Amino acid sequence: MRRKKIFYCTNCKKIIYDIEKLLLVEQGRCNCFCSENCIVEFHAPLLEYMEREEHSLRAEMNLLDEPALAYKNEEEFFKQTMGKPDKVWLDKNELGEEFYYFQSQFTPDGEAPLTKILVCYLFNGAPSFVLFQTCTRSKELIKEYQTGERIKNFLEYQKDQKIVAENENFEELPMEPQLIELIEQKRSHFLALLLEKRLPTDIPLESFGLYESYLPKTLEGPDEVYQYKDDDGEEIYTYIRSFEKDGISFFYLAVCLHVSTDMEKDEDVLVPILTFPSLDGELYADYKKGEQLTGSLKN
Ligand SMILES: [Zn+2]
Repeated sequence: MRRKKIFYCTNCKKIIYDIEKLLLVEQGRCNCFCSENCIVEFHAPLLEYMEREEHSLRAEMNLLDEPALAYKNEEEFFKQTMGKPDKVWLDKNELGEEFYYFQSQFTPDGEAPLTKILVCYLFNGAPSFVLFQTCTRSKELIKEYQTGERIKNFLEYQKDQKIVAENENFEELPMEPQLIELIEQKRSHFLALLLEKRLPTDIPLESFGLYESYLPKTLEGPDEVYQYKDDDGEEIYTYIRSFEKDGISFFYLAVCLHVSTDMEKDEDVLVPILTFPSLDGELYADYKKGEQLTGSLKN
């Protein structure tokens, strides 16, 4: 008998036998994950670090209540910056990790121009995971996020990155690149919203993995399911179920994207894009969005 080739999740160390089940976020790095939860959990300290860093920079520059922050969650600015940034920098650290700094300028009606800033990973030439985002009009703060080497022609650069990925046989990934891109874009968006809304006293991000086993239970027997179309016309399904653990009640929420499959299969699929536990009734109420569907929806 031959020994099987295996991979394991960088976060939870679970062994993965099937290369098609690996989730990758960084180009040319071995970090791979078994689930979305593990991606979030693994990066949680970094996400939190970048939030704290922004806070102290803003405190230093007296920008904590800057009016431009009202646009921090503006979806259109986020999407346009992800899709076609005005300026890009690549900051590579000693471990070979590549952080991409995106900046784009926008001018809201009747207001001064502002700059949208994103820090993300790139995979197969496209942003794969957003680590940080903000908006500002401060030249000083903008400068703080222009770090590393400037990539002058980003479109060309993206093409080169794609060729590398194909040579490394990443075309074995099970989903269409556009679909992966869409899922990553939605995930980043919903994660940013969650980070913005959640209370500091809620279940910490680094503990989300401990709640992973509640996901299948939530999808199979939800208390409530909501459905709505987002601004892009994508169908979003939100599954919610309450549980009790160690005498404490909490909600488990799964935000899923409805994906139409190709002609080979006649079934459509729900892809969980953000799944998390919460103790916060107000946050839970925020996710009761759209039309309530009765009973559970089986796929
Ligand atoms: Zn894992």
